[in-house]
Amino acid sequence: MLSCVGYAATAANAPLAPLAFERRDVGPDDVRIDITYCGVCHSDLHQARNEWKNTIYPCVPGHEIVGHVAEVGSSVTRFKKGDFVGVGCMVDSCRECTSCKEGLEQYCEVGFVGTYNGEDRQGRGITFGGYSSAVVVDQAFVLRAPTSLDPAAVAPLLCAGITTWSPLRKWKVGPGQRVGIVGLGGLGHMGVKFARALGAEVVLFTTSASKVEDGLRLGAHEVVLSKDPDAMAKESGRFDFILDAVSAKHDINEYLGLLKRDGVLVQVGAPEEPLPVSVFSLIMKRRTFAGSLIGGIAETQEMLDFCGEHGITSDIEIIRMDEIEAAYERMLKSDVKYRFVIDMTSMPASA
Ligand code: NAP
Ligand code: ZN
Ligand code: ZN
Repeated sequence: MLSCVGYAATAANAPLAPLAFERRDVGPDDVRIDITYCGVCHSDLHQARNEWKNTIYPCVPGHEIVGHVAEVGSSVTRFKKGDFVGVGCMVDSCRECTSCKEGLEQYCEVGFVGTYNGEDRQGRGITFGGYSSAVVVDQAFVLRAPTSLDPAAVAPLLCAGITTWSPLRKWKVGPGQRVGIVGLGGLGHMGVKFARALGAEVVLFTTSASKVEDGLRLGAHEVVLSKDPDAMAKESGRFDFILDAVSAKHDINEYLGLLKRDGVLVQVGAPEEPLPVSVFSLIMKRRTFAGSLIGGIAETQEMLDFCGEHGITSDIEIIRMDEIEAAYERMLKSDVKYRFVIDMTSMPASA
């Protein structure tokens, strides 16, 4: 077994603290990765604090992992020692169901294995995530990361990047479309960058007046303060597509009303409470309210390659591992510019 040190939540109300644990030995198809950076997703906070009511403790969060290959199993062909690689939200799936065969492992019909809080398919218990020194992952779930970019700023692409890329591609967002992005956090700022890079006319909706200039700098053509009823009223019925990346309870009907006939609102933000939907808003204009979960492995590679070619990364603030609780508190205040990334050299050598 591989001895690791991580940062773990041991209860919903316990601050994250160092934890010593073991990972499986490197099997024939496995890659061992020494983690250099791990992004901090709002899902880590939801999970650590059991907001989705399914957390298994101790829980080591982290699913925006980059690092270098330290060891490969005997059957590994795709990677060699030293490669710069990434791991996102999944580390395995059944690989046989219709979704897996279509490259949509995130919708695996028997359930994908989460990078943390998932159940290892090789019977080795609950998975532990990237707030740790190293990880062992089947090569099929390891991504090739672009080496031309700042490695720390690549990490958030593994979740925030793919989660916004996938719906933008699925609904074929591009030139001639007016596209709204709701919430300028980790996901939202990637949504703005991608929608702009794909050629759409991009409008950011934010509750934070302090983010207007950043929204424009990140690629939005316009920024609307969603707390201003007059500004919202002016946008009524003008959008082909809206991506909602808000982490907390909010009024979804305000955004449904901004869609044109046949417009689509895709929800990626995952608040712990239900979001009531006004059905007449859907019925009267044949609007669609949809959801989307991260993205498949092939699609994640496509997104990473696109970022490499177009020089796209996340805007980040690097933190030490022991600053994680302060980062969570700032996240809850919408004070993230625009993704915290943990420098893994700050991980203690022992727990
Ligand atoms: P984040 O960095 O904390 O950003 C969330 C943003 O939502 C905030 O910056 C803020 O933007 C806005 N917001 C927060 N509270 C709000 C409120 N009460 N009303 C309106 N707006 C509010 O979070 P994230 O990491 O981007 O994650 C966003 C959500 O997506 C989380 O729920 C996360 O679990 C979920 N997620 C889903 C998937 C998926 O596969 N579907 C994948 C990853 C994450 P402004 O300041 O601009 O208003
Ligand atoms: Zn995430
Ligand atoms: Zn499957």
